[in-house]
Amino acid sequence: QAKGEHLPVCTYEPGREESHLRQLKLMSDLRRAQARGQLRLVFQPKLSLPEGRVCHAEALLRWNHHELGPIGPDEFIPLAERSGIINTLSDFVIDGALAACRAWLDAGLDLGVAINLSAIDLLDDKLPDAILGHLRRHRLPPRHLIVEVTESAVMRDIEYAVRVLERLRAAGVRLAIDDFGTGHSSLAQLKRLPVDELKIDKSFVMRLVEGSDDDVIVRSTIEIGHNMGLSVIAEGVETEAGLALLKRYGCDMAQGYLFSPPLESAAFAGWCNRHRDA
Ligand code: C2E
Ligand code: CA
Ligand code: CA
Ligand code: CA
Repeated sequence: QAKGEHLPVCTYEPGREESHLRQLKLMSDLRRAQARGQLRLVFQPKLSLPEGRVCHAEALLRWNHHELGPIGPDEFIPLAERSGIINTLSDFVIDGALAACRAWLDAGLDLGVAINLSAIDLLDDKLPDAILGHLRRHRLPPRHLIVEVTESAVMRDIEYAVRVLERLRAAGVRLAIDDFGTGHSSLAQLKRLPVDELKIDKSFVMRLVEGSDDDVIVRSTIEIGHNMGLSVIAEGVETEAGLALLKRYGCDMAQGYLFSPPLESAAFAGWCNRHRDA
């Protein structure tokens, strides 16, 4: 008998146990984070190419934990999905993003706002009416809202997701496929999605240089998007060289640290005004 085959099941793994405890703590604290005022939205500009005009802002959620400090959405969004409170968080995001958009409009900035929805949100058939209700309450035409969903979120239950997305689109809300290129969907499936915008994942864009694998992927994705009649945006634009390539390939929009990090609503409006005058 090989040695080691009958090791006890519960071996001590400090790393894993600690991270499990952290997850449990975060899940329980997240339920009260909103009431405690620890959640807020930041906004990052999406610019049209080649001219570089701001078209809209992506709203990104932030959590400042009372003991642990800032927790990233990549960590807490999956926990919110697992603990069943993602719908409450998404409602907070939709309301906050539209409130910010309303304030920008009132200040003379005619911009749209994009929000991220999770796979779980797309399984809620009350979502379209809830979103349209928020739009009415903030007196915003639906075309001011862009909903970003990842390929993998839609593919979880494509029939259902398409129905939810179609109701939003019929009302005039714009739809974007996020993190494009990282999922496993086929072009045939993509063709069925009622979307307006395709977002190339930042993993292909961040270190974009001519002649690299990323370069080939980015260029062909822009072509595919355009052939499907979609507007294509590159996220994670960090370098001038990358931006120059995106312009050369006819990419429609760009977003990334090269232009601006995500900012608080008022700081974002200030950035837009300075950017416009520049
Ligand atoms: P995402 O939707 O793909 O958002 C883009 C992420 O890239 C954001 O990270 C943004 O801050 C970051 N980013 C922007 N420009 C650059 C750049 O030039 N370089 C690099 N390296 N990164 C850049 P963030 O805010 O940490 O969000 C991470 C993910 O968490 C998001 O990815 C999204 O999937 C999720 N998320 C954020 N806010 C929400 C939300 O309100 N609801 C849901 N369901 N998910 C959210
Ligand atoms: Ca996004
Ligand atoms: Ca993305
Ligand atoms: Ca992402």
